[in-house]
Order: sequence, then structure tokens, then C-alpha cells
Amino acid sequence: MPIINNSKTDPNKILPMSYLWARKYYKDGIANNWTPEEVSMQKDVEQWKSPKVLSPEERKLILWNLGFFSTAESLTANNIVLAVYRHVTNPECRQYMLRQAYEEAVHTDTFIYCCDTLGLDPDTIYNMYNTIPCIKAKDDYVVELTKSIFDPTFLTDSDENIRLFLHDLVGYYVIMEGIFFYAGFAMMLALKRQNKMIGIGEQFEYIMRDESLHLAYGCDLINTIKAENPRVWTPAFEKNIIELIKKAVELEKKYAYEACPDGIVGIRSDQFAAYVEYIADRRFERIGLPKAYNTENPFPWMSQSADLPKEKNFFETRVTEYQTAGSLKWD
Ligand code: MN
Ligand code: FE
Repeated sequence: MPIINNSKTDPNKILPMSYLWARKYYKDGIANNWTPEEVSMQKDVEQWKSPKVLSPEERKLILWNLGFFSTAESLTANNIVLAVYRHVTNPECRQYMLRQAYEEAVHTDTFIYCCDTLGLDPDTIYNMYNTIPCIKAKDDYVVELTKSIFDPTFLTDSDENIRLFLHDLVGYYVIMEGIFFYAGFAMMLALKRQNKMIGIGEQFEYIMRDESLHLAYGCDLINTIKAENPRVWTPAFEKNIIELIKKAVELEKKYAYEACPDGIVGIRSDQFAAYVEYIADRRFERIGLPKAYNTENPFPWMSQSADLPKEKNFFETRVTEYQTAGSLKWD
């Protein structure tokens, strides 16, 4: 049975399943369960209040990343619930998307928790996608790219509309979650490696672990729609998709340079830009497109952060063990 446009079968009948990979993402998501309150923010609060620990550049970088993610998580959740879910009729995919939507709620909660514990002004943080031009450019890009399928009358009932739907999936899964999140992940995890803002850093690690599954699911969804509707994936459409992703890479590199113009201790700002190219190549490959950059990974340690070992939480009795997902490894 097809993954979209399946009017012949019952959307409430999940067994027997056709797409076992979707079921596996659901189980992997459950195995990764976490909440922001499990992570202590005590040291972060001390460092944030101290005039000696963080430089003005580091403070700016932290605020910008909190600003970007605070609204980006809601944008992503809204896309799943208000746009994608309606069109992906397959029940096991819908089960995973319900899980993903919940995880986006956990991520949204993380930024509420960060604002509360650090005593940040919510108006400043939650308005950065209007007030900081390079953050606004990223969000505007995704919203513009995907606006047609938010129309409640939109249907995936023609080749042209299936292309629009694939556009949306590339916009959210590949570009938003797969590219626009990653300069921020690298910056916050780089700070954590220097023992700065380790609570927020740990939360970013958990978010990245979740996002790597969202992204992998999104790519499998794209690849399945493409395989089931081969006539919509024309050379012109493919060229268009490649250009969209390359434009996103430029926006993300601009964000990296502006959020962190002088680098941080031990890392130059152009290494963040190189990392964006490296991860973009991995996204290209994941959806069957040629690499565009052939840039080496400047941060091999980022892959380790995506694969948190269970001893991570050795102070805790709560289980946040990560079940290694084998081929689902992402950075
Ligand atoms: Mn998220
Ligand atoms: Fe996500």
C-alpha cells in the first residue's frame, strides 16, 4: 500500500505493517526518552551569573542559539501536526509522527526551562526570529518553501502537488532539522567540551540525538515517496532540490559566521562553516543525491555526541540509555 494517497485502506488499522522502518523509528524514539528537568542547570546558572566565566562573545552565541531553537522547535512541531501528518496516510508513519511531535514538545519545553532557570527575558529570546536578520532569514526561508501545503485545501492529488509535498519534506526534515540545527548544535557542544554551560550542552546533546532520528525518518519518507512516485522526481525537480539545499547551506554558514565571528577557544568560525558543508553532503547522500562539497568533518567529536552512552547519566537512576540504532547513526 502506498505511503501517501492511500484512500483504499483503513487509517486506523496499523497491523499488518508495510513500513517496518517507521515502526523502528518509533521504538528508537521511545528508547531515547528524556525530559529537560533531568538535567541539572545549577552550574550553568552559576556560570551565567559570574562575570568571569563567559566572554561577551560566548554569551551572545548562547543567547542566539537559544533564540533560534526556542521558536524553531515550535515551527517544526506545527509542520508535522498541521501539514505533514494529514498527507502521510500510512498508520505506522503516523504513529512515529505522533512520537516526533511529542519530542518537539519536549524540545520546546527545554527552552522554556532554560529561559526560566537563567532568568532570560522571554520577549528577547522568542523575538530573535524577527530581530536577528540571519535567524529570520533561516525561518523565513523554511516558511516560504513550505507555505503551499499549509493550505487546508491542499491535496497530494497530482504530480505537481506531490512535488510540492516533497518540497515541504525537504524544507523541514532536510533543511530545518538537518542543516539549520547543526551549526547551533556544534557551537553549544563545543562550549560544553570546554566545561561551559554543561547543562544546556547536555540538553542539546539529547535534542541532537532526537533530531538525528527525525531527520533519518524524514529522509526515508522522502525516499519512499520518490520510489513510489518515480515520475514526479524529474531532473528539473532534482536540480531544484539541490539548489534549495545549497541555498540553505549558505544561510546556515552566514548564521555561523554572525553568531560566532571570531570563533571560540580552539575553534575558528570557518570550521563551523565547514561542518555545515560536511553535514549537508551527508544529507545529499541520504536522499540519493551527489555530494556537493566534499568537505572533511572538522568535528569528529560531534558523532560521539549523537551516540550518548548509557553511563552518561551515572549520577542518575533514571534510564536514558541510548539503544544504538546501527545504520541510523547521524551527526
Ligand atoms: Mn526538535
Ligand atoms: Fe525534530
